[in-house]
Amino acid sequence: MNRMTSETSDVSGTLSYEVLVVDGQPIPGRPAPDGSPAMWSPTSATLICGERRAVLIDGLTTKEHADALVDWVDRRGLELQTIYVTHGHGDHFFGLNPLVARHPEVQVVALPEVVDHMRQQTSPEIYESLWRPLFGDQIPEEIVTASPLEGDRIDLEGHSLIVHRAGHTDRSDTTFVHVPDLALVVAGDIVYNGVFPFTVETDRASRDEWRKALDDVAACKPARVVAGHKSPTADDDPRHIAETRKFLDDFDAALDSGASAEEMFESLVATHGDRINRTALAAGVFVHAKKRDKQAALAAQD
Ligand SMILES: [Zn+2]
Repeated sequence: MNRMTSETSDVSGTLSYEVLVVDGQPIPGRPAPDGSPAMWSPTSATLICGERRAVLIDGLTTKEHADALVDWVDRRGLELQTIYVTHGHGDHFFGLNPLVARHPEVQVVALPEVVDHMRQQTSPEIYESLWRPLFGDQIPEEIVTASPLEGDRIDLEGHSLIVHRAGHTDRSDTTFVHVPDLALVVAGDIVYNGVFPFTVETDRASRDEWRKALDDVAACKPARVVAGHKSPTADDDPRHIAETRKFLDDFDAALDSGASAEEMFESLVATHGDRINRTALAAGVFVHAKKRDKQAALAAQD
């Protein structure tokens, strides 16, 4: 059984939030250069709680997570009004179906472009080549789809949850949710807290877009920032915005230095070694060092 961590925030008036974090879990795959075994990163779900109703942001991955999610939401005894999905990576919504079955009235929403990505993730092409090899039959058989969110706001008993488009961060078309009445940002995969950011689906331009997205999160002046992937023991301090940027800067500097993938791995472990999931780091450095070297070889031919 994964360890689950749930924290309650300070209550602000009639609004509060809780975060459920599930531990990272072993997955099939090559170990990192230092022998660290392949794993999936710890992942979070956030419940914004009003007096009678609640909104869930993101929904974890496996059947085991799904059961925990149902119990966790049940415990608050609130009517689940809306589920919002921040971006189209399956690990943030594959675990939702049992919760939706339990709350048949709930609206599952995402921005239209994210709805498209969610459909793609469950298409046989992507599901069978990416997700099934990683999680086997651990993912619930039925996977929910979302309806397009109209506008950029979710109302919870008069409190606004404001959706911001953040462009390409750890994938294209990511978003975050700002809850001004809680001085809270639920950041999806824009902020990584104590976990190595997933860079495989990025490039130079999109890593700049990622930095801009971090600026946009910071511009909300949040007192708390919940990362989609966070260490179960970490706080939700906004310093994790700057720490994510520091990682991206150090990653690009290591890439620019011409270091080999192994050397990049070593230097980033030396500076960011407290982060969880070194296989996520390894995947990124190997993909991008190889791409860099290939481009250099092509340029040398010209
Ligand atoms: Zn993710």
